[in-house]
Amino acid sequence: MIIFGAPFRYYQGRDILKDTGTILQPMGKKFFLVSDAFVFSLYGDALDAAFASAGLASVRGEFDGESSDAEINRLHQIYKASGCDAVVGVGGGKALDTAKGVSIVADAPVALVPTTAASDAPVSNIAMIYKADHSKDRVAYMRYSPWCIIMDTEVILKAPLRTFISGIGDAAATKFEADACLASGAANFLKGRPPRTAKALCDLCWDIIREHAMEAVESVKNGVFTNAFDEVVEASALLSGLGFVNGGLAAGHAVSSGLTSVPAALKATHGELVSFGLLVQLVLEKRPQAFMDEMLAFLKGVGLPTTLAQLGVTGADKDDITKMVNKICTPQNLVYNMPCEITPAILEKAIYEADRLGR
Ligand SMILES: [Zn+2]
Repeated sequence: MIIFGAPFRYYQGRDILKDTGTILQPMGKKFFLVSDAFVFSLYGDALDAAFASAGLASVRGEFDGESSDAEINRLHQIYKASGCDAVVGVGGGKALDTAKGVSIVADAPVALVPTTAASDAPVSNIAMIYKADHSKDRVAYMRYSPWCIIMDTEVILKAPLRTFISGIGDAAATKFEADACLASGAANFLKGRPPRTAKALCDLCWDIIREHAMEAVESVKNGVFTNAFDEVVEASALLSGLGFVNGGLAAGHAVSSGLTSVPAALKATHGELVSFGLLVQLVLEKRPQAFMDEMLAFLKGVGLPTTLAQLGVTGADKDDITKMVNKICTPQNLVYNMPCEITPAILEKAIYEADRLGR
């Protein structure tokens, strides 16, 4: 059965943070804002004013930086006592995951206001839950997709360049992973068959990224709003998100997810890990040299890592890579969404081959 899912609404525009209250008016009357102290110091007052001007109330729920069960349950208690009827996540990935987590426990609708374009996660119906020691715990599924996403491109433009480049890394892999799922018959993140609509969205995502990413990165470097920047935000947030939820993921994200268990790679962002994971997937797919050269030129040109060393991993971490490969190659892992044979030996070889090519 084909299943397709998306948020009710996606808003993207310059200086639209001030319209948050008006946009979210149909969603509730009293909103529980989940974010960290730093993001509240930047945008908290503007958001409170935006809700007040629309005749709505807002309550702040400051989170401690980790989207763990303990933190989600603590915030849920505050949410319950506050009498709020909807959750709003504001900030980077973990703040948004925590807001999604609170909405799952509270069975309340959630809206997300990303302050970076670092990944395609906001559009998705899943939340990453971490353990208290910051290692990955599990993927939590929401009943539905988020109610609303509000991307203020003036806010995104001011975010650190590295977050924007990471978002491009995450989005660059989307088409290739969805294509692998189509070829293998793997299910998407709604546990359905990927529709052709997903394939079209993933192809468009890659077309925009390939054509405009370099110019968009320059825009962010110079702090200048351009059409290329605007289009790449749409590709890395909306198209990539719809693409992976509905098209599925494969080796690119299996490897990036696996690398989070390698201590040396702890400082790399999700999109940086995906950039390398994509290379590993393309090696597994036995892509021709000319194709690899083109992809490597693209990733390097944008400023994404293409080697293990750039992720912080050296020869001293060889055992950790072997452990990671064995961890990936367990039943139900995304790596088995690949349409080719996967064994620990094949995967480990592909990782080092990608590293060699990426130098
Ligand atoms: Zn991703």
